[in-house]
Amino acid sequence: MGPGCSRDCRFCSVSHGPKFLDPGEPEKVARAAAALELEYVVLTSTTRDDLADGGADHVTATVEAVRATVADADVEVLAPDFAGTRRSVNRVASAPIAVFGHNVETVPRLYGGVRPGAEYKRSLNVLAWAAEAGALTKSALLVGLGEEKDEVCAVLRDLRSVGVSIVAIGQYFRPTTRQLAVARFWGPRAFEELEATARTMGFLDAACAPYVRSSYQAGSIYRRVNGARPKSAAA
Ligand code: SF4
Repeated sequence: MGPGCSRDCRFCSVSHGPKFLDPGEPEKVARAAAALELEYVVLTSTTRDDLADGGADHVTATVEAVRATVADADVEVLAPDFAGTRRSVNRVASAPIAVFGHNVETVPRLYGGVRPGAEYKRSLNVLAWAAEAGALTKSALLVGLGEEKDEVCAVLRDLRSVGVSIVAIGQYFRPTTRQLAVARFWGPRAFEELEATARTMGFLDAACAPYVRSSYQAGSIYRRVNGARPKSAAA
């Protein structure tokens, strides 16, 4: 949805330059997925608060183009919060997707300094609405921004309370000196403990390690989770 994001998350090096929407992008993405012979496609985007639907139609068109072009490919969407517009969330969650992802990124106490323009409760609502629309939902956090372990565990509980099935947690690494400094490096043992905690809480899958991001082994995780779900819930 163009190189310019309307948000300014302090951990992210995506640009905030000119905003445009290429109507040919869905077909271009589909052709790229076909050329690469992808079996699992993770789509993500900038946040586009300047668009009336936040880009929901564009994302949906891209999902549909990929599915029409690469018949066997499953598509996971890592969606923005669509400014908390339920209609937009429903539009994407009702598309032929494998997983609806939306990242809470950090603990609520740090939102003001880490995700200005975002709201923790709004992100939980987005995930709740997607789950209510029947989507398998996923979220991710970065640690190392100044959060405490009990705050991360509280976020995990909140995610489970809105029906999130898959979680990914990784270490924040500073992209450039313009982004936030790393407050702390979490050790491997701490990630193992978070993963064990997440699984105890009932997440169907949890990937927690320093280099994990929300697309980490996304296809394998989806297939594992989908295979374990009751037939009535499986995509
Ligand atoms: S909304 Fe996403 S792309 Fe935009 S600044 Fe935040 S993390 Fe980066």
